[in-house]
Amino acid sequence: MTTETTPPLLRGQKALVTGANSGIGKATAIALGRAGADVVVNYVVGAEDAADVVKQIESFGVRAYAHEADVANEDQVDEMFAHMVSEFGTIDVLVANAGLQRDAAFTDMTMAQWQKVIDVNLTGQFLCARAATKEFLRRGLVPEVSRCVGKIVCMSSVHQIIPWAGHVNYASSKGGVLMMMQTLAQELAPHGIRVNAVAPGAIKTPINRSAWETPDAEKSLLELIPYRRVGEPDDIANAVTLLASDLMDYVVGTTVYVDGGMTLFPGFATGG
Ligand code: NAP
Repeated sequence: MTTETTPPLLRGQKALVTGANSGIGKATAIALGRAGADVVVNYVVGAEDAADVVKQIESFGVRAYAHEADVANEDQVDEMFAHMVSEFGTIDVLVANAGLQRDAAFTDMTMAQWQKVIDVNLTGQFLCARAATKEFLRRGLVPEVSRCVGKIVCMSSVHQIIPWAGHVNYASSKGGVLMMMQTLAQELAPHGIRVNAVAPGAIKTPINRSAWETPDAEKSLLELIPYRRVGEPDDIANAVTLLASDLMDYVVGTTVYVDGGMTLFPGFATGG
């Protein structure tokens, strides 16, 4: 009798996750490490948290290191990818996850609030995707590692399609991520590069603490979620891991909504 064990989904692959010291990025970096990838843990201010994530990833017997870089800074991004190529040899998976909110009613929103969110959430993904793509194209296909030349997973949001009063900068940035992702997917698929997005609904992380921290807040949040539970970072990490793996090799230019049904217009369950 032969016993077959399934190899880890991302064995031998090299991944970079931006904003990986907290929330969804942290869970994703750990999940990719558990799936066999060597991982670069990007952060911008939280060095201690990043070091802790590195330790957790190393416990799976793969390599990891933390890299401080502002994803909105072109030179820092290019240097981060150059460093990764010198450390790990290449990159197979980019998870463009870093993001933030600077909320304000429309007429109170400052230029600085608008610009910061667009810079980090949209331009940051553009800069990282461009740097990763250059390396994918330089290296080409390595069939023993993956069926495809490279994978990019853009962290979007249900607000790429759900308007969000009081958050025009954030919703605009995520709407931009949707069109950027689809355009890159169309342009890069002929080169064997798969670009997709994951759109989380409401996930318990520091970015939206006020929405779930108190019982009252959680109750009103749950009204927006047909599945009646607030998401956990691992819900997103699992989807990203699968999307980055060869199990999803024919998935190109798609958004995977991981939202407990938030995009199902729950108000229409009883209204309309
Ligand atoms: P989080 O816990 O606040 O994490 C945000 C991460 O982004 C942190 O690691 C932060 O690093 C990093 N970051 C911020 N500015 C950066 C910059 N300029 N350069 C590099 N890294 C930067 O929030 P989260 O919920 O995990 O959010 C992660 C992503 O998921 C975001 O794109 C967000 O829009 C998206 N998302 C979240 C939810 C949700 O419900 N939580 C829903 C939809 C979409 P530092 O700690 O070092 O600043």
